[in-house]
Amino acid sequence: MKRKGCLIVVSGASGTGKGTVCAELLKKRSSLRYSISATTRSPRAGEQDGVQYFFHSRESFEKLIEDGGLLEWADVYGNYYGTPKAPVDKFLNEGQDILLEIDTQGALNVMEKMPDGIYVFLLPPSMEELERRLRTRGTDSEEVILRRLDSARGEVNAAKKYRYVVVNEVVKDAVDTIDAILTAEHAKVANNQDLLDKIAGL
Ligand code: 5GP
Repeated sequence: MKRKGCLIVVSGASGTGKGTVCAELLKKRSSLRYSISATTRSPRAGEQDGVQYFFHSRESFEKLIEDGGLLEWADVYGNYYGTPKAPVDKFLNEGQDILLEIDTQGALNVMEKMPDGIYVFLLPPSMEELERRLRTRGTDSEEVILRRLDSARGEVNAAKKYRYVVVNEVVKDAVDTIDAILTAEHAKVANNQDLLDKIAGL
C-alpha cells in the first residue's frame, strides 16, 4: 500500500507569528503543500484570489457548505473561513504532506475527522510579549487589540487538545521544531507499511 501524506495543522493566537512560521516551513520543506482556504473576508492589498485565499461571497460560501465541499469551516471575527476538502484528499492520497493554517475552532473539527493528523499549537513566549507584538504591528485599534488578547487566552486553553505545542520565540527555532516533528512522523511504523512489506518481499 502506498504511503499516504501527513496532514499538519498549525494554529495560534493572532500575533503569535504563525503566518511567518508557516511561510518559512513551506520554504524549508519544498514537498509540503499548503491548503488554500476559502473565505468571505475582503482581499487585503496584494492578496490574489487562489493564492492566499479563495475569496467568496457569503452566498457562494454557504453553497460550498451545503454541497459538502469543506472539510471544516468557522466564523472568525464575523467572516467565514473554511478548508476545501478535495485538495486535502487529493494530496494525502498522492502521498504528499499538506499544511493547514487554521483557527482553533476549525482545528478541533478536523481533529474529530482526522485524528491521525499532526496538530501543532504555536504559542507566544508570554502574554506580555504577545501584547507587545500586537501593539508594535500597529495595524489594530485599541479595541481590536484588547479583543485579540482576550480571545488569545481562550485559544491557549484549546491548545491542551493539540498534540504539540511550539513556542515562537525565534522563528527559525520554531520552524526547525515543526520540521523535526514532520520528520519523526514519517519514520512511524504506521506510515511505512509499504516499505516493510517490500523488504519482507510481500
Ligand atoms: P486572516 O484573515 O488574518 O488571514 O485570518 C484570520 C484567522 O482565520 C486566522 O486565525 C487564520 O488561521 C484563520 N483561518 C484561515 N483560514 C482558515 C480556514 O480555512 N478555516 C478556519 N477555521 N480558520 C481559518
